[in-house]
Amino acid sequence: MRIASRAERLAESSTLAAAARARALAAEGRPVLSLTAGEPDFTTPENIVEAAIGGLRAGLTHYAPTAGTPEAREAIAAKLRRENGLDCDAAGVTITVGAKHALHLALECLIEPGDEVLLPTPAWVSYAPLIRLAGGTVVEVPGAATRGYLATAAELERAITPKTRLLVLNSPTNPTGTMHSPEAIREIAAMLGTHPQVSVVSDEIYEKLVYPEIDPSASFLSIGSCPEVAERTITVNGMSKAFAMTGWRIGYAAAAGEGVAAIRAMIRLQGQMTNAIPSFLMPAIVEALERSAESVESMRRAFARRAAIVADGLAAIPDLDAPSPTSAFYAFVDLQSLLGRTSPGGRVLEDGDAFAEALLEERYVGVVSGTDFGGPGRTAARLSFACGDEILTEAFDRLGSFVSSLR
Ligand code: PMP
Repeated sequence: MRIASRAERLAESSTLAAAARARALAAEGRPVLSLTAGEPDFTTPENIVEAAIGGLRAGLTHYAPTAGTPEAREAIAAKLRRENGLDCDAAGVTITVGAKHALHLALECLIEPGDEVLLPTPAWVSYAPLIRLAGGTVVEVPGAATRGYLATAAELERAITPKTRLLVLNSPTNPTGTMHSPEAIREIAAMLGTHPQVSVVSDEIYEKLVYPEIDPSASFLSIGSCPEVAERTITVNGMSKAFAMTGWRIGYAAAAGEGVAAIRAMIRLQGQMTNAIPSFLMPAIVEALERSAESVESMRRAFARRAAIVADGLAAIPDLDAPSPTSAFYAFVDLQSLLGRTSPGGRVLEDGDAFAEALLEERYVGVVSGTDFGGPGRTAARLSFACGDEILTEAFDRLGSFVSSLR
């Protein structure tokens, strides 16, 4: 069978692949500590689980409307008005198979072949393949390590050409664990105010995981609340990270004013593609958004504690350089001072791939090579702290001893 070129060109998700390699070694009985996962180690709060079971028992076993039930869409719209300052209502919301699906729908509906899409890098591994699948050209805008790898409004503006149609923004950021200040978001919105052909897809999946405990000034602002871009921003979010619901596959996209035309297009595509997510999950969405704040906060506090373990652990290894994680559950480590050295097992550390392989094979610590995140990623690695405190502490011990064993 001939495989179509658009599928043939697709790379496997390197984060999922790194997690799978760590799992495979663990299955062989090795004492693996995996810092690869992009998902909370917590289980979903009980009240949300009960709401889904209640939905099943109440007979929610038929197709739901493609974009979700009116109640679930309204709960999302109300959350976005209340917490994010978006001027949206239920008609401007669609509920999708995870945030990934929302991103895919948005990119398919906003990009024509040949359009340029600004992608600040390092960036989560799925954006570039999804942009290319939609026919877009990825224009990377690398952020400086000294500024938490975050591109400024001026850097983004310099990358804009007459072909630019979209900016994909992700703050708090996977893979760096850093985030734009409200001020920086306002500057980006103001800059885009003078480029009316450029729309925004804002992936806000980590909005709840912000740690003023690490940096008191860390605080979240939705770019869709800025008047300059309010009607040309698709806000993407979901239940996976904040509510520990990765396996449920619930995401959503929303827009306001004239932007709702894009949501309507996305719903048309969704209707042909997947239809609605499972009906009995609809009450769980309402339960999560309206009655789970305490659980979210207690998980956030645990992540803040782990962020501090990571910041201390990195500070204790002078050869590794990384911005302190102020959000999400990642640290992005610059490996440049290690390049060219040799591991005890004889591996020459040429790049992030070699570092990740040596650390896993020789010390059984799984991390993700930075290569597929773009920008400065080739000489970096991503560490996830979505794992228990003891695992993290032990992993940093092994990491420190690995780095000092390099020759
Ligand atoms: N966006 C970012 C930045 C992510 O890190 C992830 C998960 N790794 C997703 C989207 C996908 O989330 P979901 O589980 O909702 O599809």
